[in-house]
Amino acid sequence: MPKFENPFRDEKEGRMTNSSSVPKVSAVRKDSHTTRLPFTVQRESRGSQARAATFQTLHGEVKTPIFMPVGTQATVKAQTAESLKLTGTRVLLANAYHLLLRPGPEVFQRFGGIHRFMNWDGPVLTDSGGFQIFSLPHSRAMNEDGARFHSYVDGKSHLLSPESSIAMQQVLGSDIMMALDQCILSTASYAQAEAAMELTHRWAERSLRARDDSRQALFGIVQGACHHELRKKSAAFLSEFPFDGFAIGGLAVGETHNERYEMTGLVTEHLPSTLPRYLMGVGTPIDLLESVHRGVDMFDCIIPSRLARQGVAFTSQGKLQLRRSVYKFVEAPVDARCDCQTCQHYSRAYIHHLVKADEFLGWHLLGMHNLTFYHRLMREMRDSILRDDFLSYYEKKGVELVRADEEHPSCPPKKSQTARPARLGDYEIHRSAQGFSSIRQLSSGEVMHSVNAPSEEATKLYVEQSCLLSRLVKQPAPADALVIWDVGLGAAFNAMAVIHCFERCYAERGKGALRPLQLVSFECDLDALTLAVKNPGCFPHLRHGAPRKILENGKWEHASGLLHWELLKGDFRERLESANIPELIFYDPFSAKTDSALWTAETFARIFRHCAPKSAELYTYSAATAVRVALLTAGFFVAEGVGTGPKPATTIAFTKATGAGNHPLSPRLLGQQWLTRWRRSHARFPMTLTNEERAHCEQLIETHPQFFGEA
Ligand SMILES: [Zn+2]
Repeated sequence: MPKFENPFRDEKEGRMTNSSSVPKVSAVRKDSHTTRLPFTVQRESRGSQARAATFQTLHGEVKTPIFMPVGTQATVKAQTAESLKLTGTRVLLANAYHLLLRPGPEVFQRFGGIHRFMNWDGPVLTDSGGFQIFSLPHSRAMNEDGARFHSYVDGKSHLLSPESSIAMQQVLGSDIMMALDQCILSTASYAQAEAAMELTHRWAERSLRARDDSRQALFGIVQGACHHELRKKSAAFLSEFPFDGFAIGGLAVGETHNERYEMTGLVTEHLPSTLPRYLMGVGTPIDLLESVHRGVDMFDCIIPSRLARQGVAFTSQGKLQLRRSVYKFVEAPVDARCDCQTCQHYSRAYIHHLVKADEFLGWHLLGMHNLTFYHRLMREMRDSILRDDFLSYYEKKGVELVRADEEHPSCPPKKSQTARPARLGDYEIHRSAQGFSSIRQLSSGEVMHSVNAPSEEATKLYVEQSCLLSRLVKQPAPADALVIWDVGLGAAFNAMAVIHCFERCYAERGKGALRPLQLVSFECDLDALTLAVKNPGCFPHLRHGAPRKILENGKWEHASGLLHWELLKGDFRERLESANIPELIFYDPFSAKTDSALWTAETFARIFRHCAPKSAELYTYSAATAVRVALLTAGFFVAEGVGTGPKPATTIAFTKATGAGNHPLSPRLLGQQWLTRWRRSHARFPMTLTNEERAHCEQLIETHPQFFGEA
């Protein structure tokens, strides 16, 4: 056997690869690209970017979406290759940087690669070491050629370059190699992020050339921190090269969850749909769900093993801390709904004891359970995509995954109470008996969406009833943007329902088929939304980049440029005439009892006058006679809206007589029957009206074209 020359070790500090001697870019451009990882998309989810696919590796087929446990040192901590298989593990991740420092390339060369060395016959993905040099900022020097650093094992100097990283990964014989990248904090400035991205691009080309005709697949890594332009540019640039898949790097290193989701969605949108997409180092179960929804196929993360070591189990009831003494006598398994080896054979009490005694077996058993949980989550997502049912799975699972241990709630420590206030300004979080969260105004005691799960009500009452989806995809698309007013932003239930509807359309139909959308929210007090955004566990609809942006800048734009969301802060009555004329109004302020000025005939008349040049429709949750009378006297044509939950009816108002007739759901205009009932009602007019005003009001109703006109 020829002696292996370690390309990684370079004790002569001065010797560096001369990068100008490497072939030009065109040598590796994607001309006759044959992938080493034949990838087949089996199904794309409707209304989501989620997809189920398969790809072929040198060690067999892989079904996606997939989670890959991290075996940095050629071992997933506390697990054997056999126990990993029992959890459902298919692909393992190993780290070229760590393994080439110890045990060293010579060992892998002797064994013919990592598979035989660690007795793993499934696929292996190796990381290039980019993240590791990022984590050692003080003991390395970086330049165009690579990163020079001192080994933590023996202190010797090493050069990690794109070429040496590929050489190491080839010795490991992994199925999928990663190109060396320069990872930086996701919160880096534009200039820093741009420089790191450009270096990553040059290294990506060098990695491809170094891979040469090896049969091992190679992924490029998209960088660009949290800068939209850079992320788009990086995805577009790398897509030009014959990689076998693409990774999204540089996330989960400092950004918020919402930023992570936003960047993920943006990048997947700009990557080819014909190759696998891998989100590196992410994440928690909810992160996986959100990222699959945004089009990611592959994940790796140390969380399941790391939390197992701390005594934490992921379950269908939320995360459990098995160290807590409430489990001391519990005979039930960790999760009665889990079929893993741990839950089949051991009690919570036993695991609790092992964790308390710092016994290694506790780590092993909880690790098996947690990995099984992760793999089951991925399998469920895949099955739901194949059934074309992902969206409803996503909605349901999202709530389950952020749930806490409800059986044995623990009192949150004081510190976390200050970090996540349950109150802000005039608002507090309200938990309904049915288990959903809303916002309550302290001064009035009024709960926003008090009787129905708020997201459901927003969807049913506003998004579905207005047939928003068919308006967005209407062909031929009207040239002007669809303008929607969201009156009473609150905790953004309605606005996010609109955005989710748009994103589903966009995912399904793409950019060309969609009408631009302008969403205008009116709100005078942003504390309700601020409070909700700080408590994403209670408000899953806010796990999105948009709400934070709207709080910070008063506006947000979808990556497609087709959806603009704008906040008009202040009293609605002071701002309404300054806003573009809407086609749809989602009228959802506090009730007349709390905010009477917004329900008067005078306010409705101003809305009517502003919108009358067009055919506008106003949707509101109220079906009160006083509200309908105010709308009629303002000039609107008023129809019965759908009921939601315990509310038997709601209200739709049209500026044009033809509005109801042209509506796809043919809502019924209030007719003679309503009028007869109204005439008999003792509450025909708002209490505040003078006799003279009552007479005028009566005359307007008794001559309204809805009841007496040609309509
Ligand atoms: Zn289990």
